[in-house]
Amino acid sequence: MTTDVASAARNTMQKLYRAPEPQLLKPMIEHARLDTDSRKRVESEARDLIAQIRAAQHKGWVNQFLQEYQLSSSEGLALMTLAEAYLRVPDAATADMLISDKLGEADWRRHSGKSNSKLVNSATWGLTFSRALVGEGETGPLKRLVSRMGEPFVRQGVGAAMRLMGEVFVMGRTIDEAMKRMKKPENKGFTASFDMLGEAARTKKDAEEFFEAYWRAIKAVAREPSANHTISIKLSALHPRYEVSQYDKCVPEMIDLLSQLCSEAASHNIAVTIDAEEADRLDMSLDIIGAVAKRPELRGWDRYGLAVQAYGKRARAVIAWANALDRLMNVRLVKGAYWDTEIKRTQVDGLSNYPVFTRKASTDVCYLACAKDMLSADNIRPAFATHNALTTATILEWARDAHGDDWREFEFQRLHGMGEGLYEKLVREDGYHCRIYAPVGGHRELLAYLVRRLLENGANSSFVHQLADNDLNDSDLLADPVEKVASVGGTRLPEIPLPKDIMKDWRNSSGIDLTDRETLMATAEAVNAVPFTPEGTDSVHADPHHPSGRSMASLDAARTSDDDVHSAITSAQAAYPAWDSRPVEERAAIMERYADLIEENRIELMGLIVKEAFRSIPDALGEIREAADFCRYYAHRARCDMALKELPGPTGEYNAMKLEGRGTWATIAPWNFPLAIFVGQNAAALVTGNTVVAKPAPQTPAIARRVVEIGHQAGIPEDAFKLVIGGADVGAELTGDNRIGGVAFTGSTNTARRIASTLLIDEERPIIPFIAETGGINAMIVDSTALPEQVAADVLTSSFRSAGQRCSALRLLIIQEDVADSMIEMLSGAMDVLSMGDPGDPSTDVGPVIDRDAYDKLMSYRETMRPRWIKTIEPPEEGLFVPPTMIGLDSIDDLTREWFGPLLHVTTWKAGKFKETIEQINAKGFGLTMGLHSRMQRSADVMRHLGRVGNLYVNRSMIGAVVGSQPFGGEGLSGTGPKAGGPHYLARFCAERAVSIDTTSAGGNASLLNLDRG
Ligand SMILES: Cc1cc2nc3c(=O)[nH]c(=O)nc-3n(C[C@H](O)[C@H](O)[C@H](O)COP(=O)(O)OP(=O)(O)OC[C@H]3O[C@@H](n4cnc5c(N)ncnc54)[C@H](O)[C@@H]3O)c2cc1C
Repeated sequence: MTTDVASAARNTMQKLYRAPEPQLLKPMIEHARLDTDSRKRVESEARDLIAQIRAAQHKGWVNQFLQEYQLSSSEGLALMTLAEAYLRVPDAATADMLISDKLGEADWRRHSGKSNSKLVNSATWGLTFSRALVGEGETGPLKRLVSRMGEPFVRQGVGAAMRLMGEVFVMGRTIDEAMKRMKKPENKGFTASFDMLGEAARTKKDAEEFFEAYWRAIKAVAREPSANHTISIKLSALHPRYEVSQYDKCVPEMIDLLSQLCSEAASHNIAVTIDAEEADRLDMSLDIIGAVAKRPELRGWDRYGLAVQAYGKRARAVIAWANALDRLMNVRLVKGAYWDTEIKRTQVDGLSNYPVFTRKASTDVCYLACAKDMLSADNIRPAFATHNALTTATILEWARDAHGDDWREFEFQRLHGMGEGLYEKLVREDGYHCRIYAPVGGHRELLAYLVRRLLENGANSSFVHQLADNDLNDSDLLADPVEKVASVGGTRLPEIPLPKDIMKDWRNSSGIDLTDRETLMATAEAVNAVPFTPEGTDSVHADPHHPSGRSMASLDAARTSDDDVHSAITSAQAAYPAWDSRPVEERAAIMERYADLIEENRIELMGLIVKEAFRSIPDALGEIREAADFCRYYAHRARCDMALKELPGPTGEYNAMKLEGRGTWATIAPWNFPLAIFVGQNAAALVTGNTVVAKPAPQTPAIARRVVEIGHQAGIPEDAFKLVIGGADVGAELTGDNRIGGVAFTGSTNTARRIASTLLIDEERPIIPFIAETGGINAMIVDSTALPEQVAADVLTSSFRSAGQRCSALRLLIIQEDVADSMIEMLSGAMDVLSMGDPGDPSTDVGPVIDRDAYDKLMSYRETMRPRWIKTIEPPEEGLFVPPTMIGLDSIDDLTREWFGPLLHVTTWKAGKFKETIEQINAKGFGLTMGLHSRMQRSADVMRHLGRVGNLYVNRSMIGAVVGSQPFGGEGLSGTGPKAGGPHYLARFCAERAVSIDTTSAGGNASLLNLDRG
C-alpha cells in the first residue's frame, strides 16, 4: 500500500518539476492560510522572537562587523570576494595583489569609528591601513607609515580576519574541535548535526577522503552518545560523477557507500540526514535514499532522513514520498541554498520553466504548506530549519494546534553563525529542541560554504538581512507571505522571464532537460533510432567503433560534379533578383519558420549529427539550439539593420542609406559544427537577400542535405539555397567561379589562405568579401586565486568536450607555478573519471574523432613528441578514439600549431609575469579564444586590454558561445571577422547603397520656408 503511495508521489513529482507556479501555489494558499486569531498570535510571538534576535545581535562583534560591512556596500562585497579566495593563495606576491585588488576599490575610511564595537572599529583601521599599504591609490603620510610596518603584517592581519570570518560559520577545523566547541556556554542546550565542508568531489581521491571524514565523524559522535549529535551527508561528496548521465554507474556505487556509512551510524544509533542539493539531482538522490531506507540491516533504525527544499516545486510531493516509505523518516525542511544557481541553469539550458519558485513569498508559503503536511504525517519526525522568526512562530502555532502545547516531538534547526537569539528562549526556557548545523573543515574547504552564507546574509530578500536593515520595521518583516502570494495569484515574478523570453528581441531556443533521467533515456533511444544511410561508400558511419575509420576517398561517391557546381551557381544567380526584392520582413519570417522547423525536427537532426559527425547527445542538442538561435537572431538583426536609414545633411537635401544583398554567396562549413555553422552562414546570407550555394564538409553531407530540405520547407526558394557536396576540389570550383559575390568560410587557416588567393587570381574579378573563421592556439591562464575544482571542471569541458574538435577549444593551459602541482593532480583525477565510447550512449563524455586522417595525425604527434610529462586515459580498444591527454611542456613557445583534438598542452608561468605571459600568447599570431581563471578583477582587466583575441572567457569554460550574447570569431591567424552571432555580421553580406537627392533642384526649398509660421 505505502509502496504504491510512494511511487504515486514520484510520478506526481515528475509532473510538478517545472509546472507553472499558480498551479502549485493556489492549493497551498488555502492550506497555509491562518485564521485571524491564529494570525494575531503568530504575529505577536514573531515580534518577541525578533526582539530576542536583535538583543543577541548586539552581543557578537562579528554580527556587528557584518552589519557595518553589508553585502550591498562595495566594502562588504570586497570582503566577501576576498574571503572566498584569500586563504587558498599560497604565494605572498599574489596574496598582496589580491588584497590590493579587493581592498583598493573600497572606501574603508567612511566606516572609521562608525560601529559601537571597538573591535569592529579596530578592524576598520586595519583595513584602512592595509589598503594604504597595498592599494595603488593611496599616497602620503599614511602610506609611508604603514609601509614601515611591512607587507607581511598586512597579510597576517587579513589572513587572521578571514579566518575569523570563517570561524563565524564553521564549527571547527576537525570533528574533535567542533565537538569541543559545542560544549561552550553559547551552545548550551543545543545539539549539533555535523557536516564535512568542501566542494563536491571531482576525483576518486576527493570522494574517498570525504567518505573517510564522514566515517571518522560518526565514530567521534559515537564517543559521546549523551550529546545526541547527528551527522549530515552531502551525496555529491561521495562520488566524483554524481550526475544523471552516469546514473547506471554512480547510483549503485553510492547506494553501497551510503549504506556503509548508515550501517556504522545505525550501530551507534546516530542519526543521519542527507542534505538537499541541486534540483536536477533530486530524483537520483531519492533513488539512493530510498534504496538505503529499504536495506534489511537498517530496518528498525529510525534515525535516518533527508532535507527537503521548500523553494522547489516538488517539495510537497517529496514529503508525501518520505511519509510513504514504510518506516519513520526524519525530514529536515529547509528553504534551499542554491536558488540563484537554479534560475541561471534553467535559463542557460533553455528549459520550459523553473524548478523553483520565483518569489520569495512563494517559497515561504510552500515552506508553511510543507510544515503543515509534516506535522500531520504518520511516518515523519519533523525538523524545521529556518532563521525566519515569522516562519518559526507559524510552526509553533500549528504544532500546538495539532498536538497540544506540550508536544515536543519535533525540532528546530539553525546554521552555526546564523539565527542566534531566535531559539535561545525556546530552548532554554520553553523546552523546545534546536539543533545547530555545524560545518567542519579546514580553512581551505570553508570558502565556498562561506560565500553561500555571506550571500544568504546579504540578499535583500533574506530575513536575516532584512532584520539588519534600518529602513524596515517589524511590520514589514511580519507581512503575511500567504496574502502576498494570494494577491498576485501565485504568479511568477515578472522580472524573471521564462527561459524562452530572456533574449527579449528574439525567442531563445528551447532545450531538452537531459538532467532528467526519463527524458535523457527517451531522447537517447529516439536519437539512436534515427535511420542513417551513409553517403558514398563509407561504412564507418554506421559504427563509430569501426577500426578502419573513414577516409576521404570513401566519400567521393557522393561528390557533386564540376558541371553541377556551375549549374547550381547559375540557378542561384537566376533566383537572386526575386529573392532580394522580397521585403526583409518576409525573409525574416521565413528564417523564424526555419528555426521552428529545425526545432520540430530536432530528434532526427540530432540522430544524424550523432551518427554522421560522432557528436555526443548533449553536443547534438547544442547544435540544434545554436542553429535555431542563428536563424532567429539574424531575422531580428535583418529587421533592424536592413531598414532604410535617413542620414543628416544640409537643408534641401534627402540623404539615406540601405543594406541590400550582393548576389550569390558561396558558404563553406566545417564538419565539427555540421549543423550550427552550416545553418548560421546560410541564414545570414539568405536573410540579407543573397542566394547561396552551400558546401558542407565532405564528412557530413547527410546532415546538410536534410537541413537544406527543411530550409526549403520553411519557404526558402529551392534555387535560392543550393547544396553541393565534396571536398577541397568542389570548394575550389565553387569559389573560383567569378559569379560568386562573396564567400563565408569556417575551417583551417591554410584552407582560408588558399581560398583568399583563389579569389584574387582573376584580375577581371571584382574583389569580393571573404569571411573566414579559422582555428587558434587557445590558451587559458590560471593564477593561484582560482578555485581548483572550478578550474578542473572548466578545463576538462574546454579541452575534451566534443573530443577537442571545436575551434574554440582549449589547447594550452598555463598555470601559475605555485599551484601547478596541485592543480595538475586535480585535473588528472578528474580526467580519470571521464568516460569514452559510443557518442549515442548518454554516458559518453568523449567520443571518437571525425576520421582516420585526423586520428592518424593526432596519434602520431602524441606518440612522437617528447613531452616533459604526459597524462592520459585508456581509450576503448577499437575505433577512432584519441584519448584525452595532458602534455607537459617546458614553455609556451614549445607549442607552435593547433592540434585539433583532445590534446591539452600544459605549462606554467611565474607570479609577477602575467602581462609577459599574455604577450607570449599573442605572439603566436592566433586570436580566437583566451581564458582566465582568477579572482582578481585587475587581472581580468589587464587581459581584456592586452589579449589579442576575439573571445575572452573569465572564470568559465571557453566553449559554447551563445548567439547574440557571445558573438564568436577571431582575429589575426584566427579569422577575418565579423563575428558570427554578433550585431555586425549581416552587414558584411550586404552591399551598402546610399542615396542623396537635392530636393531644391526642381524649385525652392519649400520645407525651409514653411518652418516659421510668422
Ligand atoms: C539546519 C539547516 C540545514 C540546511 N540544509 C540545507 C540543505 O541540505 N540544502 C539546502 O539547499 N539548504 C540547506 N540549508 C540552507 C537553507 O536553505 C537556508 O539557510 C534557508 O533557505 C534560509 O531560510 P530562512 O527561513 O532562514 O530565511 P528566509 O530569509 O526566510 O528565506 C530565504 C530563502 O528564500 C529563498 N528565496 C530568496 N529569493 C527568492 C525568490 N525570489 N523566489 C523564491 N525563493 C527565494 C532563498 O533561496 C532561501 O531559500 C540548511 C539550513 C539549515 C538551517
